[in-house]
Amino acid sequence: MPSPGVAQSAASAQQSFPVVEYRADRMLIMPRAGVSPRALAEFHTAQQTVVLRRFEGLGGWEVLQLPPDTTVADFITSYERSGLVAFAEPDYARQLALSPNDPYFASGALWGLNNDGQSGGVADADIDAPEGWDVLTSASNIIVAVLDTGIRHTHEDLAANLWAHPLDGSPGWNALTGTNNPVDGDGHGTLVSGIIGAEGDNGKGATGVAWRVRLMAGKCFNTLGEVGFDSDIITCLEFARAHGARIVNASFSGTAFSHSLSNAIATARAAGIILVAAAGNNAADLDMIPRYPACYDLDNIVSVAATTRNDELWSSSNFGATSVDLAAPGHQIYSTFFLNDGFYLGPVSGTSLAAAYVSGTFALMLARFPAETHQQIIARVLDAADRLPALAGRCATGGRLNLRKALSPPVLLSVLPTGPDEPFQLRVAAGPNRTCVIESTTGFTGWTSVFTNTTSAAGFFDFTDLQPPDAPQRFFRATAGF
Ligand code: CA
Ligand code: CA
Repeated sequence: MPSPGVAQSAASAQQSFPVVEYRADRMLIMPRAGVSPRALAEFHTAQQTVVLRRFEGLGGWEVLQLPPDTTVADFITSYERSGLVAFAEPDYARQLALSPNDPYFASGALWGLNNDGQSGGVADADIDAPEGWDVLTSASNIIVAVLDTGIRHTHEDLAANLWAHPLDGSPGWNALTGTNNPVDGDGHGTLVSGIIGAEGDNGKGATGVAWRVRLMAGKCFNTLGEVGFDSDIITCLEFARAHGARIVNASFSGTAFSHSLSNAIATARAAGIILVAAAGNNAADLDMIPRYPACYDLDNIVSVAATTRNDELWSSSNFGATSVDLAAPGHQIYSTFFLNDGFYLGPVSGTSLAAAYVSGTFALMLARFPAETHQQIIARVLDAADRLPALAGRCATGGRLNLRKALSPPVLLSVLPTGPDEPFQLRVAAGPNRTCVIESTTGFTGWTSVFTNTTSAAGFFDFTDLQPPDAPQRFFRATAGF
């Protein structure tokens, strides 16, 4: 039996762990280039520090053990004053990265978001969602219209993310009945909605690409046969445009070219609306046999093929070297379903689901880059796709969606003007609050990280190279860390 005193201290420890910022008995240093190892070793001896680890591949970077009853700050000061180190700093504490607590994510069922190779898949055949969520999880002001069979808007993992009509609170429009009750009697629309925006980190069910978003239900497909007609599709598209939707998920296709549908999407384009279209599930080449809306020649349409957990094109997915833009996970997918408020379905497959991954990505992109045009946002997502051998010649990008890369702008390195006797200076620009690494090499045979910092709200930081003038010629590059 533990004594009451022990039980009490355990309880208080749970309530408030002390915040450890750094180890009190260690320090990290980077030797200056050209400093002799012997001079550094002699300084260590004089300071009574002990080298615990040394990494030649990190430029001779060292972990030092400090003598007892001393403070890290004192040693940082003395090492920096010694002239022997490029920097000295505390051994900072880290916390485990947050991942959502939704059971289907934790179990690995949602491989499209994070694939560790579970269930016979290929590790990292995914959209790098956790890394993307380090940048942004929420698109709570972005309305995504789901033109589909309706949405079970009371579902436990969707209810919080439904759009609400400002006048009556309804979640969208039912073009089949002409009412504001877009009930899902089929399930397709509820499946698609959960991939875009099932509520993340709520301890229930799945998580969407966007943890928070506004899902607008546009019911234009019936339950029997899952058929939708252009009249109803366009009615819902106009409802979406009139009520502020920024993205339209169009997980459907047909072979007929309709001027009406083309014109309606062109009108949506003028409002800056991005329409994400499924390529379809006919194992067909859309360059030969076009399907619509995927193949309309409008720059606000993004057409999507489906990949598997092995980063292969799904066997039934349509494709097209010019008419399909990119691929996204669409095989053996789990998501919310319409049968009751706690129902989830899977595994299911289809380019409908792949399109939903892309729509969820666009929601986060519009939240991240609110000032950009639809062309700029689409270009970011397409440029960020992971090029895959299996997709070469199968879609225009030859790539599969990558959320992390889409949310992270490229890193730009520029040389700042300095006087002849001033140290060399670089500016790293990469968008706000982004951690970047400057690396250096003398012979291009190996790169050493020399400086890591996080960009300001204005999107940059500067680096001053304090190496001595007689140091060998060096080249620099900068990359983003995550
Ligand atoms: Ca990954
Ligand atoms: Ca959830």
